[in-house]
Amino acid sequence: MSKPILWIVIPCYNEEQVLPITAPMFLKKINDLAAAGLISEKSRVLFVNDGSRDATWSLIQKFASEDEHFIGISQSRNRGHQNAVLAGLMEALHSGSCDITISIDCDGQDDINAMDEMVKKYLDGAEVVYGVRSRRDTDTFFKRFTAEGFYHVMNALGADIVFNHADYRLISTRVLESFADYREVNIFLRGMVPLVGYPSDTVYYERHERLAGESHYPLSKMLALAFDGITSLSNKPIRLITGAGIVVSLISFIGVIWAIVQAVLGSAVAGWASTICIVCFMGGVQLVCLGVIGEYVGKIYMETKARPRYIISERTWAPYERKYHG
Ligand code: UDP
Ligand code: MG
Repeated sequence: MSKPILWIVIPCYNEEQVLPITAPMFLKKINDLAAAGLISEKSRVLFVNDGSRDATWSLIQKFASEDEHFIGISQSRNRGHQNAVLAGLMEALHSGSCDITISIDCDGQDDINAMDEMVKKYLDGAEVVYGVRSRRDTDTFFKRFTAEGFYHVMNALGADIVFNHADYRLISTRVLESFADYREVNIFLRGMVPLVGYPSDTVYYERHERLAGESHYPLSKMLALAFDGITSLSNKPIRLITGAGIVVSLISFIGVIWAIVQAVLGSAVAGWASTICIVCFMGGVQLVCLGVIGEYVGKIYMETKARPRYIISERTWAPYERKYHG
């Protein structure tokens, strides 16, 4: 088997502080892996600029002009981490000159040295290799608590995701080809990749602190991601609501019989408190249910529009005749 061509796919959003530190690390990794005979010399580091407002894109262009291993694409505007990674993976697939991709954040938090083992596992036959965090010591207690809670809640609600695996993973282009047929607009990569199948493996690594700059994932964005993940991958919440609805209806039915019996016995009092309680309770339950159902309807709405999931406005290289987006 000839040596695989690796593309490291790196989403970047307002990362002018950290890119000058991490870009040389990625380049060195590629060169080291090639020197060790694990990957081809033609491997690349692909930066995806996700509509940054700072100097990120000009930095990427500078890297690309300095070393041919660096290439960059730029999204027409900020579309979020998941879409940026997808754009990079599809660029690698459509380039026709890539065998495996590894997606990783650009902030140096994920241990870049785990790539050696990922590539080895690929050479041993795995088509997808998940990077899994072994410890979260460097995360704050709050981040750790919310992040681990995230995986538990996701799994409980039917989104089958690998515990403590984020978006650091190796995917072969064979898998990407099948993955390209998953045309949904609401994308949650870490839940979707396992759906494609193929032999997979895991690599454990330690998560470091961000080398510079600040996290773009505050609690609000994490909650949004969790909600998106659950509603994109599973119908379980709707089923839970149906179940809750049945239980509440049964209880109400018993309550009605009780009320009638009381009335017949003539011991009914002006039941202001109980009426208010029931009205409030039912109102609350119904609003929550409507909200969840609305979320799914909203998803259907976006899916029927089938808008492009990313639009690449600029490239540091010119592989295609026309602009590719999808
Ligand atoms: N990112 C992106 N688009 C966004 C937000 C983030 O491409 O809208 C990138 C960011 O540049 C980084 C990665 O996604 O490479 C992860 O973001 P961050 O490190 O801020 O998240 P955290 O690691 O704190 O969860
Ligand atoms: Mg980070």
